[in-house]
Amino acid sequence: MDRGIPLFKIRGIQIKMHYTFPLILVWAALQFGLLSGRGLGGAAFGVIVTSILFAIVVLHELGHSFAAQYYGVDVKQIVLLPIGGVAQLARIPEKPSQEFVISIAGPLVNFALAAALAVVGLSAGLQLGLPFAFGLPAGVSAGAVFSYIFAANLFLALFNLLPAFPMDGGRVLRSLLAMRLDYAKATSIAVVIGQGMALLMGLWGFASGSFFLVLVAFFIFSAAGQEGRMARMRSVLGDVTVQQAYSRQVYTMQPSATLRQAIALTMSSYQSDFPILEGEELVGLLTRGRLEEALKKSSDDQSVSEVMRRDLKPVSPDERLYVVQKLMMEAESEVLPVVENGVFLGLITAGDIGKVYRLASRWPGFARSRVGIAET
Ligand code: ZN
Repeated sequence: MDRGIPLFKIRGIQIKMHYTFPLILVWAALQFGLLSGRGLGGAAFGVIVTSILFAIVVLHELGHSFAAQYYGVDVKQIVLLPIGGVAQLARIPEKPSQEFVISIAGPLVNFALAAALAVVGLSAGLQLGLPFAFGLPAGVSAGAVFSYIFAANLFLALFNLLPAFPMDGGRVLRSLLAMRLDYAKATSIAVVIGQGMALLMGLWGFASGSFFLVLVAFFIFSAAGQEGRMARMRSVLGDVTVQQAYSRQVYTMQPSATLRQAIALTMSSYQSDFPILEGEELVGLLTRGRLEEALKKSSDDQSVSEVMRRDLKPVSPDERLYVVQKLMMEAESEVLPVVENGVFLGLITAGDIGKVYRLASRWPGFARSRVGIAET
């Protein structure tokens, strides 16, 4: 998710375009032009409305982002994907009222835009129906673009308000429930409602022969389940922090060490990921995946610094485990370095988190017991 073409920054938020994004413009050109028999004019129409559509998606995501910033939540970036946009928030606020405002802010932007377009379109009817200056075929006009964009805003607002994860409506529903119930219970109810909706949508898709709808339904169903698992994770792990779970005694390597030495360490220990330290400073992490990948391509006398991951951001000992779990998923890594005030302390792995999860789900007193704080 971190990969993408940076476009611009607003209030510290980097807007990025995923590499596959230009494909959607090509698709739009084909769809509106060649495939619908409207030629170049149609293709231009497709590219124009699709570009405007994504500008609108950026505004929608900025709605979420500004609301989040208002509550002091960091917004890392907004990524434009072919299927829409994603605003990456550092965290989802625990307070239901805050989650409610952040979730509904996106669709509200679309409602506001639709209302503004309606007012402008109705009062200054001039825009509507005017053909483009460069002579497009009939039917492809500024007016057509205008009404298309108006309709798209309404559609985006309503679609996003469907009460199913991962749509905004799912979060709106969860936050409303969480105002009266506990967070995990509220989430599981919202998950069931969302999955029920996805099932209905899928059935409707089958009945109407819309393969696309079935696909969307399937996506919603699994995303809702995923959200449910995350919430369970969060309620089980509670306030357990990295401090209680990370591995302290780990082998580290120097940047100049070879892959052969890494293999030897892997074989003679439990460890399969190695922090690379230059003096005292952490400069990278040789993950098992990277090591195996490198061995496929080249010899084992390569230095670890050539193949190590440099993009993995360290976590602090105070970070909560369920947050770390999320960071791992985002970074596509099963291990993260633990660093405090620039000092390398150890590693936290998916295995460590799994161990805590199993303990905590069998022994509800775990989180309160403060077991595992092995201070050195
Ligand atoms: Zn949204």
